Amino acid sequence: MRILIVEDEPTLGKQLKSTLEQTGYAVDLSTDGEDGHFMGSTEDYDAVILDLGLPEIDGLTVLGMWRREGRTFPVLVLTARDSWSDKVAGLDAGADDYLAKPFQTEELIARLRALIRRVPVERSGYRVVRYEGRYHTVRGGGRTAPYIVGSEDSEDVLGRA
Ligand code: CA
Repeated sequence: MRILIVEDEPTLGKQLKSTLEQTGYAVDLSTDGEDGHFMGSTEDYDAVILDLGLPEIDGLTVLGMWRREGRTFPVLVLTARDSWSDKVAGLDAGADDYLAKPFQTEELIARLRALIRRVPVERSGYRVVRYEGRYHTVRGGGRTAPYIVGSEDSEDVLGRA
């Protein structure tokens, strides 16, 4: 699982990177909107953690650019702003989830896991009916199928169900 963090606050960015690496993710860290946008446009990520207040290009604009380019990775927006208007703007721009600073790292990791787990299942039109660690049971089109989170052929499994 490969994650991109775009966060300009050096301490927070480094701390998040190291925590996520300890959790088992491969993590790239970018500290401004222009560089972050470039990385998200050219590399494949399973999920992106995106701060909104960034130098060069702000996070909402970066997110809008990725979505217009057809980048579909899930994006967790991270920001010090905690107002409804910012939250709505973030979700409208294509964010999949939203976390206001300050936050607990455990919550961030749990939300990230949920995002990564959700994507291929939703893309396939199936929904998860039972969670058992990495092994899920999904249902769609009147049928039930096993689904292994993170397995490369999970979409094949779903396709054959
Ligand atoms: Ca910031």
